[in-house]
Amino acid sequence: MDTLLKTPNKLEYLHPLHGYSEKLSTLSSSRLQNQEFRFGPKKSNLKWGRSGCLRVSSNALLELVPEMKKENLDFELPLYDSSKGVVVDLAVVGGGPAGLAVAQQVSEAGLSVCAIDPNPRLIWPNNYGVWVDEFEDLDLLDCLDTTWSGAVVYIDEQTKKDLGRPYGRVNRKQLKSKMLQKCILNGVKFHQAKVIKVIHEESKSMLLCNDGVTVQAAVVLDATGFSRCLVQYDKPYNPGYQVAYGILAEVDEHPFDVDKMVFMDWRDSHLHDNKELKERNSRIPTFLYAMPFSSTRIFLEETSLVARPGLRMDDIQERMVARLKHLGIKVKSIEEDEHCVIPMGGPLPVLPQRVVGIGGTAGMVHPSTGYMVARTLAAAPIVASSIVQCLDSGKSVSGIELSTQVWKDLWPIQRRRQREFFCFGMDILLKLDLPATRRFFDAFFDLEPHHWHGFLSSRLFLPELIFFGLALFSHASNTSRLEIMTKGTFPLVNMINNLIQDRD
Ligand SMILES: Cc1cc2nc3c(=O)[nH]c(=O)nc-3n(C[C@H](O)[C@H](O)[C@H](O)COP(=O)(O)OP(=O)(O)OC[C@H]3O[C@@H](n4cnc5c(N)ncnc54)[C@H](O)[C@@H]3O)c2cc1C
Repeated sequence: MDTLLKTPNKLEYLHPLHGYSEKLSTLSSSRLQNQEFRFGPKKSNLKWGRSGCLRVSSNALLELVPEMKKENLDFELPLYDSSKGVVVDLAVVGGGPAGLAVAQQVSEAGLSVCAIDPNPRLIWPNNYGVWVDEFEDLDLLDCLDTTWSGAVVYIDEQTKKDLGRPYGRVNRKQLKSKMLQKCILNGVKFHQAKVIKVIHEESKSMLLCNDGVTVQAAVVLDATGFSRCLVQYDKPYNPGYQVAYGILAEVDEHPFDVDKMVFMDWRDSHLHDNKELKERNSRIPTFLYAMPFSSTRIFLEETSLVARPGLRMDDIQERMVARLKHLGIKVKSIEEDEHCVIPMGGPLPVLPQRVVGIGGTAGMVHPSTGYMVARTLAAAPIVASSIVQCLDSGKSVSGIELSTQVWKDLWPIQRRRQREFFCFGMDILLKLDLPATRRFFDAFFDLEPHHWHGFLSSRLFLPELIFFGLALFSHASNTSRLEIMTKGTFPLVNMINNLIQDRD
């Protein structure tokens, strides 16, 4: 079992604030992209091995991994011609789900768009999961490759909850193809490079790329995910981190029902023989997230919901190995693996500022869950229509006036208040050990679907969130209420302060 997971991707984490080994979002050997990830004020120290793989000094037993696989989509992309000196209406920096969604919609309105990304045809690396109703609302059901009729949550060895809410895995190849196709049809031009700098003039901005090309645009959209390349922050960046290690594996067998995905498995019986690991897990717990595709093919991800500083990847891998062994899951081969680090909460970027943003770079990750895809895809039309209205209305709105409008539409007061509440949720979760976390989710998933669905999918706004909070409190056990009160008092005061200070 010790050789069950083999990976050369050992990641060295260095948290600039805590002087603590931590962090680094991303991609496995099979998914390496030459991007830098910046989660703190300084860049993290990534080490590159001779093979081109990220290396880390963790004493994980895990050794090898899947074959390197960088799959590109088979598209001829119309290229941006810098020699013409044209000023495009919109430059989108970053071709993840957030950037492409806006590029597609702004170009649909007839505006000129240049999309810049170092690997514009690369299939997105992350294994995205969403609630099916979220993608139904977006008319994107054709972009789910697998759906489960429901999900299960194991609170502990005795308590299992059946969530009657269908869940799906995003077919990232299909989603990206669909978006790229529409972009191409609408006349979007692509530039394969990394933006390294932006210079603003009164009514246009110049983007300097690492290949020496300059792209000129009336509006610049930063959609560079967690690398937060262009948007500015004026407060210390102090998010929590969701850290997870996932494998898509061929196994002999597994104990899960293939009709249900495992949203959270908080059981810890796999750690009974390892006192030290059990204590570590009791202090900062991890759970298993699993998508069973068949009786022998499954995505398994050991996840730390949120911690500050984030858990080390090798710690998570160690817990995963112990869990799989206990569950009797023997891995025959690994198709791909995923090193996941998602910054959660923390401050919003400066609002407003000249560069506009969307997605990871614009603080759109749900601070209590780490989810973002559905929310971002739903926000893309808002950002797009805001840009189109400003540029297309004959009002000649430009420069900071235009950006101010776009930021306002992306982060209206009710969304900022909602996020503040979710940050409050995160602040409580950060303080819960395993028993308290179990009690919390025991109460959470007993709530009316309207409440827990709405909370997870960012559909509740402040007044309803207060009712949600009261309902959660009333469903909680006495011990849990006490925990929420003691651990939540300071975050509550903090949230109220922030709510009072934040006005339009
Ligand atoms: C491993 C992982 C798993 C996740 N799973 C889920 C999930 O299941 N469900 C969910 O809702 N959310 C999930 N998330 C959270 C979030 O939805 C994703 O991070 C999502 O990809 C963010 O989309 P984005 O478009 O903002 O950024 P990204 O997808 O990160 O895209 C950013 C793009 O910008 C490009 N770029 C970066 N720097 C530059 C530059 N200087 N110039 C030009 N281009 C640049 C990059 O190459 C990249 O293509 C996950 C995150 C991670 C890291």
